[in-house]
Amino acid sequence: MEIVIASNNKHKVEEFQAMLENFFVLPMGDVGCNLEVEENGKSFYENAKIKAEAVSSFLKGRNYIVLSDDSGLCVDALGGRPGIYSARYSGEHGNDRENRKKLLDDLKNCSNRSAHFQCDLVAIFPDGKEIHACGKAHGEILEKELGENGFGYDSLFFSKELGKTFAQATEQEKNSVSHRAKAVQNLLQILKEAPKFDTIRQKS
Ligand code: IMP
Repeated sequence: MEIVIASNNKHKVEEFQAMLENFFVLPMGDVGCNLEVEENGKSFYENAKIKAEAVSSFLKGRNYIVLSDDSGLCVDALGGRPGIYSARYSGEHGNDRENRKKLLDDLKNCSNRSAHFQCDLVAIFPDGKEIHACGKAHGEILEKELGENGFGYDSLFFSKELGKTFAQATEQEKNSVSHRAKAVQNLLQILKEAPKFDTIRQKS
């Protein structure tokens, strides 16, 4: 049994392949699935579940675990926003520069800059059994951007654990503390205790 990521986003698939290095991890396109799923849930968990369930029912009867994620930035002073709207905070989906600009505008003159990134993962086995794991990375939103690496809100997010922004960190440093890495670690912990763990194909 191999793991199919409910996404064709190359960057995302490569990240999961790196974090799940002992397993065989495929983008959904490689198993003939190119579904466009509307993320209309009210939480990261609901959105991840919606995507995982859609791909899982498409692959019904085939021997794959489907893994899906949803993530974003939650800012305390904004009541948890942008949250599930992180990718389209400024209106246009995926416009990172405009999203960062809006975040800085919204936090103008605000002294409470606490925030966290959150990632929720949902894995669905071929028999429909579902596993959920979550990971968080805590930090603060700076008043101006620092660093050149990463994407999204990385240059504004000062990680408590790293003592620098995610955009100043190397990929390896970010992957040691990121919300996605922690969610994957938590998922692996749960998977290892699942009765069907031995049937997941691993690299020898
Ligand atoms: P998605 O889970 O890939 O849909 O991510 C949603 C949005 O959250 C992204 O477009 C980014 O704006 C933001 N985001 C999620 N993870 C990160 C991260 O590791 N760094 C910076 N921004 C992130």
